[in-house]
Amino acid sequence: MIVCTSREEISSAVEQIRKQGRSLGFIPTMGALHQGHISLVKKSIADNDCTAVSVFVNPTQFNNPNDLKTYPRTVDADIALLEATGADIAFIPSVETMYPEGLENVTESYDFGAIGAVMEGAARPGHFNGVGIVVHRLFDLVKPDRAYFGMKDFQQIAIIREMVRQRNINIEIIPCPIVREADGLALSSRNTRLNEEQRKQAVQISQTLFKAAELTNKYSLPELKSFVINTVNSVPLLDVEYFEIVDGYTMQPVNSWNEATWIVGCITVNVGDVRLIDNITLKQ
Ligand code: AMP
Repeated sequence: MIVCTSREEISSAVEQIRKQGRSLGFIPTMGALHQGHISLVKKSIADNDCTAVSVFVNPTQFNNPNDLKTYPRTVDADIALLEATGADIAFIPSVETMYPEGLENVTESYDFGAIGAVMEGAARPGHFNGVGIVVHRLFDLVKPDRAYFGMKDFQQIAIIREMVRQRNINIEIIPCPIVREADGLALSSRNTRLNEEQRKQAVQISQTLFKAAELTNKYSLPELKSFVINTVNSVPLLDVEYFEIVDGYTMQPVNSWNEATWIVGCITVNVGDVRLIDNITLKQ
């Protein structure tokens, strides 16, 4: 595996692959890699001749400075795990490499319309703009044929698809299923910040979503929404930031079962100062 840190290194590694006519899959990550990330890497290895993975904690997508400061960073372990999995390229740029103009001079601006105005877009102002900026810059450098994203960040996939559409980017976006712990908790780099009691109670997030998926015949959507919010909030250390039941394509809230063909429940829960997200398909 080649480890690249500069623009020159990644560009020349990618150029070699292109020259040889080999296909390239790409997985952008913020590191602290776990089996959720690795499932994307394995899918890319299966689909493509070569696989590149970036590890970059992107400052422009954090609206909360404390979240950025405390975000787990385990670069050496990440490199070892990527090597063991069989990735071909790890791209680990510095902030200066990704933003040579300086963070205060970053000017790109994205308008994702209604897709970006709800849920994470409403709760984290500027977040999706930062995601758009960094993913576009990474796409420009890596020039992959396909890029892999986890459905855990459900709205993010819709944002990336919209960006690719708006900017005419010729990269196939591949969504990958959520990888969970044995008890159901969605794997997340932020899980390592939970203490033992918080971790124990956090399982109620996914368990409540699973229960909701079983109650779809019995409840109207407003009833189901209340059920999820009340059940999760009844767990002492869990605090629901939002639970929205949305059209899986447009991300817009739906109020009745026949309003959309694909209906997804998306939740964000604060566990102490750790913010966890999860989602479940309720109809498809
Ligand atoms: P992150 O490092 O959190 O920015 O995530 C990088 C990529 O890994 C994103 O496309 C995430 O959706 C994906 N990912 C994170 N956690 C999981 C998981 N539990 N299952 C599947 N994909 C995941």
